[in-house]
Amino acid sequence: MICPNCNGLREMFGFFPVYADHVPQKDRKISIKLPCDLCDATGVIDDDYHKRLAIGESLREKRLDKELTFRDFCKKFNLSVYEVSAFERGKKLNNEITEKIKQIYERL
Ligand SMILES: [Zn+2]
Repeated sequence: MICPNCNGLREMFGFFPVYADHVPQKDRKISIKLPCDLCDATGVIDDDYHKRLAIGESLREKRLDKELTFRDFCKKFNLSVYEVSAFERGKKLNNEITEKIKQIYERL
C-alpha cells in the first residue's frame, strides 16, 4: 500500500531545521526535504502497517496514562528515542527490538 506518511512521494518536508553553527546563514532554509523514515523512502508500506500502528497507538496511550513523557520513558527504560518513536508510529522494526519495547510497555 502507499505510505500514509509521505503519500508515496518518498520524501517529507521538515520545517525550521536546526543547523550546526558552521553552516553559513545563506545556506540555511526554512524548510528542507527529508527522506520519509516510515517507508524508508520507498513510498510504499507493507499491509501489516495498520496492525502495528494500532498496537503502537494503544501502548502510547498507556504510556501517557502513566504520565510518562516520550523522553522520560526512553530514559527510564534505556531505550532508543528513534526506535520507540518508530514503534509508536507503526514502523517495522526488527523482531528483537519490537518484542523488547512491547514487553516494557506491557509491564507499565
Ligand atoms: Zn513514506
